Amino acid sequence: MSSVITTVEGLAALLAAQKSAFTAEGAVDAAERRRRIQQVIDLLVAWHKPLAAAMDEDFGHRPQGFSLMNDVLGSLASLKHARDHLEDWMQPQERQPFAPYDQLGAKARVLYQPKGSVGIIGTWNAPLFTLLSPLAYVLAAGNRAILKPSEIAPRTAEVLAAACAEHLDPLLVGVAVGGVEMAEGMTRQPFDHLVFTGSTAVGKAVMRNAADNLVPVTLELGGKSPTIVSRSADLATAAFRIAAAKAANGGQLCVNPDLIYVPREQLEAFLAELKGAYASLFPQVQGNPDVVAVVNARHLARVEGLVEDAIAAGVRVESLPEASAADPQDRRRPLRVVVDPPADRRIQQEEIFGPAMVLLPYDAIDAVLADINARPRPLALYWFGTDEAEQQRVLEHTLSGGVTINDAMMHAAMQDAPFGGIGASGMGHYHGREGFLEFSHARTVFEAGSYDPRREWGLLPPYGEHFLAAMEAQVTP
Ligand code: NDP
Repeated sequence: MSSVITTVEGLAALLAAQKSAFTAEGAVDAAERRRRIQQVIDLLVAWHKPLAAAMDEDFGHRPQGFSLMNDVLGSLASLKHARDHLEDWMQPQERQPFAPYDQLGAKARVLYQPKGSVGIIGTWNAPLFTLLSPLAYVLAAGNRAILKPSEIAPRTAEVLAAACAEHLDPLLVGVAVGGVEMAEGMTRQPFDHLVFTGSTAVGKAVMRNAADNLVPVTLELGGKSPTIVSRSADLATAAFRIAAAKAANGGQLCVNPDLIYVPREQLEAFLAELKGAYASLFPQVQGNPDVVAVVNARHLARVEGLVEDAIAAGVRVESLPEASAADPQDRRRPLRVVVDPPADRRIQQEEIFGPAMVLLPYDAIDAVLADINARPRPLALYWFGTDEAEQQRVLEHTLSGGVTINDAMMHAAMQDAPFGGIGASGMGHYHGREGFLEFSHARTVFEAGSYDPRREWGLLPPYGEHFLAAMEAQVTP
C-alpha cells in the first residue's frame, strides 16, 4: 500500500487497513513507540534541507534558518520530549476501590491505551509543525496516524510525502495530499481521533462532520491574542519583545500579538519605541532576506483589506519602516500599526494573521479586562509589567488558551506543558503529559475479590425488610 494517498477512497482504504493492523497488534510497548518516534526524527534529520527549501519556495520567501527553527527544531523538540517521557506517562495507575470492596480483595487501576488511528489536518503557516508536533504525542500514546498537509504549501506537502514514503510504513503513518475536498473528506472518516489546526470557521465545520461518527476532536484554532502593556512595564523592553514576536513568520502565527493595549498617556512613547525596535530588526523590508513574505496574493489582499477598511474610517495607520513603492512580485511588507480603530472596524474583529497590529489606548486596566472578556476567548494572552497585583488580577479575570508574561508566544514553545485553546480558540491539547493523555483512552479496570458479600448482607433481590432502612441509614451529609 502506498503511503501517499491522493483520493478520498484511498484514504478510507488506508484508514481501514490501519484499523485492522491496530486491532491485530494489541498492546504497543514503550520500545515500539520509541522506535516509531525515532523514525520520524530520522526523517527530519535526513530531509531537513529539502523541507526548509520547500517552505522558502511555498512562502515566496521564508529564511531557511527560520524554517529550521520554527518547523524542524520545533517538531524535533516535541518528538524528543515524547520519546524520552512516554514510558513514564504510559504506566498504569493504581486507584482506590470503594468501601467495602477495598477491604474484600478488590483492586482497581487505570490503563492508558491508544485510541487507534488519528487524522491530523495541518495548516500552511507552520506546515511541518502543525503536523509533526501533534504526531509526536499521537505516536507516544501508541496510535497510528494519517497526515493531511495544507495545499497552500504544496511544495512542502510534496517533499513531506516523499520523506514519509521513504521512512515510514503507511500502516503506521500515511500522508493524504490534496485540497479542501481531501481535507473535508478526512473529517467524514471514522477516525478514532481528529486533530485540526486552522481557522475557527473551518473548525466548526470539522466538528460538525466529526460528530456524525462521534470522532473526538482536538481543535487548534486562532484568535486575537490580546497583549497588555501595564503602566508598570518597561516600555522599551515591551515594545522590542512585541515587535520581535509580531515579526515572527511575517505575523502569520496563531499566537502573534494582534491587539496591543497601551496606557493612553504612553501611546506615543510606545509607538516610538516600537518603531525603533522594528527598525533595529528590519532596516528595510522589501528584498530583506530576514523577512517572511505573506504566503500568497489572496492572504496579502486579505491583510491589506483589513488595513484599508480602517483607513477608510479615517483611522491613523503607521508603517514600520516607512512604506516604499511595493514590488508586486515581492510579498514582504512593512508592519502596519493601526491606532485606535473604532470597535466596528474589521481589524478589531477578525484575526489579522499577517503584518499588521492594532494599538488600543486605555485608561483603567478593568476596561481592558472588560474588552477582552467581551470578545471570543483568545488562544494566547500577554501581559507586560512588574505590578504583581495587576498581573494576578489579569490572570484571574480573563481566560485564554495560554499566557506569556513579559514576552509573547513563549508558552507555545513549552514541551513540558499543554498547548491549546479554549472557546473560539479551540479545545484539547498537545505537548506534555496532557498531550499524551489527549490521544490515550483512560480505561478503568476494576478487579473483584473472590469473596462477594452482597447476598449475605441482603443487598441483592429479593430485597428483605431491612434493605430500604439500610440504604436510608447511609444517606448522610
Ligand atoms: P483554514 O481553516 O482555512 O485551513 C486549515 C486546514 O483546513 C487546511 O489544511 C485546509 O486545507 C483545511 N480545510 C479547508 N477547508 C476545510 C473543510 N471544509 N473541512 C476540513 N478541512 C478544511 O486555516 P488557514 O490555513 O488559513 O490557517 C490559518 C488559521 O489557523 C488561523 O486562524 C490560525 O490562527 C490558525 N492556526 C492555529 C494554530 C494553533 O495551534 N492553534 C497554529 C497555526 C494556525 P487546504 O489548506 O489544503 O485547503
